[in-house]
Amino acid sequence: MPKPKLSPPPPEKPPTKKDALRLGEIGRLEVGAIQCPTCLDIVFSRAHHDMCFCTCGSVAIDGGREYSQITFHAEKPLSLKIIVPFTAKELYDDWNTQRNELGVIRIQEFARIKQKKHH
Ligand SMILES: [Zn+2]
Repeated sequence: MPKPKLSPPPPEKPPTKKDALRLGEIGRLEVGAIQCPTCLDIVFSRAHHDMCFCTCGSVAIDGGREYSQITFHAEKPLSLKIIVPFTAKELYDDWNTQRNELGVIRIQEFARIKQKKHH
């Protein structure tokens, strides 16, 4: 009688790091962002149709991760590339469910925590 054999699961081809980054499967995503010259918020677009404004409303960015469309009223914002600890899906879901927790990094909230500092 043949020994019962557990068939091993089919070998999974591990995604390359490049694939994972592209697909946003690892929570470490490079996004294009802008920093508002007025309120210093750093904002980035979470999805293709997400237009994300800073707190003071002077600058906005949309286009998701495919391209960055920047809108500003007065002073041109600083363009940045930042690594965020989220997956593309988390960003998309945050936008899609209107939870709106991830698109803006409010520098002034950190500043408040870290005490008032003179410029
Ligand atoms: Zn602003």
